[in-house]
Amino acid sequence: MATTSYDVVIIGAGPAGYVAAIRCAQLGLKTACIDEWMGENGQPSLGGTCLNVGCIPSKALLDSSHYYHHMTHQAKDHGISVKEVAMDVAAMQKRKSKIVGMLTRGIDGLFKKKGVKRLIGTGRLLGDGKVKVMPKRGSGEAGQLLESRHIIIATGSHPISLAQAPVDGSTIVDSSGALAFGKVPQRLAVIGAGVIGLELGSVWNRLGAKVTVLEALDSFLPTVDQALAKEALQVLKRQGLDIQLDARLTGTKKTESGVQVVYQTANEQRQIEVDKLVVAVGRRAYTQGLGAEDVGLALDARGFIVTDGHWRTNLDGVYAIGDVIGGPMLAHKGSEEGVALAERIAGQAGHVNYDTIPWVIYTWPEIAWVGRTEQQLQKEGVGYRTGVFPFMAIGRARAMGEVVGKVKIIGDEKTDRILGVHIFGPHASELVSEAVMAMECDASTEDLARTIHAHPTLAEAMHEAALAVDHRAIHI
Ligand code: FAD
Ligand code: NAD
Repeated sequence: MATTSYDVVIIGAGPAGYVAAIRCAQLGLKTACIDEWMGENGQPSLGGTCLNVGCIPSKALLDSSHYYHHMTHQAKDHGISVKEVAMDVAAMQKRKSKIVGMLTRGIDGLFKKKGVKRLIGTGRLLGDGKVKVMPKRGSGEAGQLLESRHIIIATGSHPISLAQAPVDGSTIVDSSGALAFGKVPQRLAVIGAGVIGLELGSVWNRLGAKVTVLEALDSFLPTVDQALAKEALQVLKRQGLDIQLDARLTGTKKTESGVQVVYQTANEQRQIEVDKLVVAVGRRAYTQGLGAEDVGLALDARGFIVTDGHWRTNLDGVYAIGDVIGGPMLAHKGSEEGVALAERIAGQAGHVNYDTIPWVIYTWPEIAWVGRTEQQLQKEGVGYRTGVFPFMAIGRARAMGEVVGKVKIIGDEKTDRILGVHIFGPHASELVSEAVMAMECDASTEDLARTIHAHPTLAEAMHEAALAVDHRAIHI
């Protein structure tokens, strides 16, 4: 078998791998990217979890369901009367698939434009800088042998499964299944009140499902600022999500119409019957088929690939980035690692500032934050001051009819440097970028307070919260 040489071979074309590939090619490195993903239509599809069954399809459904909910619940506040609002789930799903198709094909176009060689199949490490591309079983194609001084593993993650609720793809599903329901289930249960549970629970709740979310922990979103998390919990419950904390799944039993879910609360055992059950209890590193054991690639106790501060694994010339190395399982975290690593391979000083990675939970209102929470700072014994400002006192929020939530800005007690920004409110996902930029530039709350914000905008809540750190907010 002939061997083709590259400067860099990347295994996995999710947001970590495909971005690394493009950056490598931009830097003049001869780059190949191998990916095994098969899309909805049974055809190879680039973009990994994020584009195929993650960020993009979930946001498409969140937007569709948001418009539906707006029509049925808020349109009348604007003087709009809509006689018959009907939800065509098949059309919504078709729209979602079209968006996914356009974006995944877009990566193929980018690869061609930037000069990345796309290889379809499973990448297997053979050691000594060699990788075998195994074609899809039954495809009739021969494998290919590659060699490269630099190999980047970006094989991503898969959902964690629960023995008490084995996913069957129809009644008990994971997040991919919950993105593909053909009709609105009347009764839906979700195990896990994490990011996926809340986002996908919101989609189907808005469309009319009775949604119960069972969370094992007795606290809600423990990594989120707890004052905002408490407010978000109340708001989501008011929207109809029955979120039960301290609720441990003990078993499931298929019934004629769906599945019986048995769980333990602090005081009693309870059971509910639902049409569909979604298991959303986190994700684990995916290294199957990679040949990790054969070449002695070091994994930690949870299965993540072990890397140093520069994404080097224990094997010479082999690096890893994205979900497969752990840390925040976020697309933009993986992509930034891809860019920084490509630059390091090209001899530059690529770097990721892990302290300024934004988080967003796309409920409505959205929850977004960057930096540390009050609870973290208290644990660390760091002195701080806070400024809080509610959206209800923002003119633009009033005009939009979006008055729920607030912005909290935390500044260092001595230096005033911004330590964290926490937002629960409309378009928090967009507002948080200003905070990321400010923190990236080591700005103080005073810098934000002195920055002119256009009127009327939601961003004025950021300005006012910064002013509030020094007790000089204007509109409250
Ligand atoms: P992946 O995207 O998982 O890509 C890995 C790729 O490697 C896949 O294409 C896989 O087929 C391929 N692969 C694996 N092994 C091999 C092999 N041996 N050979 C060849 N190919 C291989 N994150 C956000 O930041 N924002 C969001 O809004 C968001 N929403 C999400 C919603 C859902 C429902 C889910 C499930 C996730 C969401 N995420 C979101 C998380 C995000 O999708 C992941 O963090 C991101 O996709 C990780 O990127 P990655 O490149 O590391 O891995
Ligand atoms: P998660 O870690 O956000 O939440 C899982 C939840 O399930 C936790 O609250 C956990 O306590 C709970 N849980 C675990 N075992 C349980 C059990 N047996 N019974 C009841 N509850 C249990 O994980 P996720 O929601 O599955 O999402 C996976 C990853 O995907 C996340 O790390 C996230 O970063 C990423 N993601 C990001 C976005 C976004 O950025 N908007 C959206 C979706 C997913």
